[in-house]
Amino acid sequence: MTTVKTRNKLEQLLKERQKSSKIVGLVPTMGALHQGHFSLIEKAQQETDLVVVSIFVNPTQFDNASDLQKYPRELKQDIDKLSNHFKDIIVFAPLPEEIYEEQIAAEHFDFDGIENQMEGKYRDGHFDGVGTILKKLFTIINPDKAFFGEKDYQQLMIVKKLVEIIDMPIQVIGCPINREESGLARSSRNKRLSAEDREKATLLFKSLTNIKADFGTIYALKTYKKAKEDFNTNSDFKLDYLIIADAKTLVPCLDFDDDRKYRAFIAAEIGGVRLIDNMALN
Ligand code: AMP
Repeated sequence: MTTVKTRNKLEQLLKERQKSSKIVGLVPTMGALHQGHFSLIEKAQQETDLVVVSIFVNPTQFDNASDLQKYPRELKQDIDKLSNHFKDIIVFAPLPEEIYEEQIAAEHFDFDGIENQMEGKYRDGHFDGVGTILKKLFTIINPDKAFFGEKDYQQLMIVKKLVEIIDMPIQVIGCPINREESGLARSSRNKRLSAEDREKATLLFKSLTNIKADFGTIYALKTYKKAKEDFNTNSDFKLDYLIIADAKTLVPCLDFDDDRKYRAFIAAEIGGVRLIDNMALN
């Protein structure tokens, strides 16, 4: 495993390696790595000849300075974990000035309205920040395939639009949500949950599971409303949204066509930690 911190070094290394590695895969992360990230790297290793894992807490995708400041940074442990788990990957862990040069600012993108749904309503400019960092990483690394978790499903759809907009031939691959035994979706933010809140936070997964179980039956609407009510009447949680949306456009809906795919999406805060999760319904 090789760790590089500068763009020049990475570009040089990729040039050398590209002679023998035909298909390059990229797994972008913000670090504080867990099994969810590892599942993406495993998939990338299966599907490509050379995997680059980037670790960079991207300032432009945080609309809230305190959230950015509280985001866990564990580069040394991350590098240890990666070297214990994976052979032959390149880790790119740049400093902000290496990526943003003079000015830490986001470019504006038009993602066909996907950016205005769900997270877009609660995290101002978030997807411009995501688009900005990924455009930069894609340009530096020029991967053939890039791997993203369905955990951040809206982000996955944004990245698919981004590669169309910037017109790069990158295959964007969605990977299944990796969960703790309790059903809680793994997240770097879970570390900040108390043991009690971690247990309570399984309500997100349970609610999505109930909505899925009754989807397509006469109980569907009742189950969905009950799940929302469970959060709204529970003082441990602050619910941002619990919606069912078209899996492609992410437009919320309560009328369903047999030939379309739908997902349920949730964002809720518990103990000052904002969690998101989602599930395919059909
Ligand atoms: P992050 O470090 O949170 O920005 O995540 C980096 C990548 O890992 C993103 O594509 C996430 O969607 C993905 N990811 C994070 N948690 C999970 C999980 N529990 N299961 C699958 N993918 C995940």
